[in-house]
Amino acid sequence: MSRSYERSRELFARAKRLMPGGVNSPARAFGAVGGTPIVLQKGEGSRVWDVDGNEYIDYVASWGPLILGHRHPAVVEAIERALACGTTFGAPTPWENELAELVVEAVPSIERVRFVNSGTEASMSAIRLARGYTGRNRIVKFAGCYHGHVDALLVQAGSSATTLGAPSSPGVPPGCTGDTLVLRYNDTEQLRDAFDRFGDEIAAVILEPIAGNMGVVPATEEFLHEARRLTAQHGSILIFDEVITGFRVAYGGAQSLLGLAPDLTVLGKIVGGGLPVGAFGGRADIMGALLPEGKVFQAGTLSGNPLAMAAGAATLRVLRETNPYGQLESVTARLCDGLERLALEHGLPAVVQRVGSMFTLFFSSEGVRDYEGARKCDTETFARYFWAMLDRGVYLPCSQFEANFVSVAHTEGDIEETLARARDAFEQLSDVAAPQTG
Ligand SMILES: *Cc1c(COP(=O)(O)O)cnc(C)c1O
Repeated sequence: MSRSYERSRELFARAKRLMPGGVNSPARAFGAVGGTPIVLQKGEGSRVWDVDGNEYIDYVASWGPLILGHRHPAVVEAIERALACGTTFGAPTPWENELAELVVEAVPSIERVRFVNSGTEASMSAIRLARGYTGRNRIVKFAGCYHGHVDALLVQAGSSATTLGAPSSPGVPPGCTGDTLVLRYNDTEQLRDAFDRFGDEIAAVILEPIAGNMGVVPATEEFLHEARRLTAQHGSILIFDEVITGFRVAYGGAQSLLGLAPDLTVLGKIVGGGLPVGAFGGRADIMGALLPEGKVFQAGTLSGNPLAMAAGAATLRVLRETNPYGQLESVTARLCDGLERLALEHGLPAVVQRVGSMFTLFFSSEGVRDYEGARKCDTETFARYFWAMLDRGVYLPCSQFEANFVSVAHTEGDIEETLARARDAFEQLSDVAAPQTG
């Protein structure tokens, strides 16, 4: 509306000359909604500000880590205290024990853990460990689940369950993906077929127990229980990628909600409290196959970095002590009910899918249960919704296929304000749609 994005445009034009696409991660480039990204400069609680001084209610939360909001005092203080001692040692430190104890206590299936610097690194390492431990090569993933930019997982879905994967990115040799099977999410029958055919060659099945990277799409209980049963029966490793869901949908992650124990769990995002941390952990015997106890190679100069460990530990301690999950549930439910109702009132087909404080508003007349379903959504309406909200000071993920996040810093007042702005945004959207429908 009357907002100016002039300074963002200037900075982003310069960024494009310096960095490919102007970004250090492609999802930030507004590719799915068009236009120029806003350049952010400051965050506090539930709010962020861009370089032009525009204020936004933030539902991106840095794509998931900031469950406590921006600059939570306990996290800021923990980082400052660690910083007073130095930034990195490349040696054992007390900070990594603290975070490891919190993780092992929070997630019962994790008996031992290793810290890395990103979710990508964690899932790449977990897959190598599963292959090294089982002595097998094949892995199973599901279309629409994202586990970071791991070569073996950058695969196109094949034409049938038993088609082995072709690379989905230039630069990934077919040899890297030739052992990857891509199956349909929530398709229990297809999973059974794959195990019938290849069961004793499958090292691991990796999945998001609540998918967040095709928008929020929960797995059915039947699907997850069958994945657990088949992997156990065939001696394959079940890996839950809880990079988003860990400490998000419950303190113990999706697995604690579901009452299911994977063999390995991949963590990231919240576990680093806003600093770069990933982790993988699980059964003690499997983790023991890692160097230097075992033979599977895995290493990192900055792994277990004190500042990052301190930020993660402070975040987990606040979550453990305040148990905000009930509050997150009710605040987010109110937002989602409101958004869905307002969209429908304005004649826009919409379904909100939500688990706890993660949700996606799909512009679709039916629920989404897999990647094919997600792709049927109206991405043009999404783009107009995104911009209408941005212009009204609500910062949403810039793609239909992403999760929105509510933090403990979001108040009832924030939610009311968001809904008021959404009403206004949907009015604008239906005004534009009206002439076309007569
Ligand atoms: C973000 C994400 C990753 C990758 O983590 P990075 O830190 O971005 O490398 C892996 N798995 C899931 C489920 C994610 O959402």
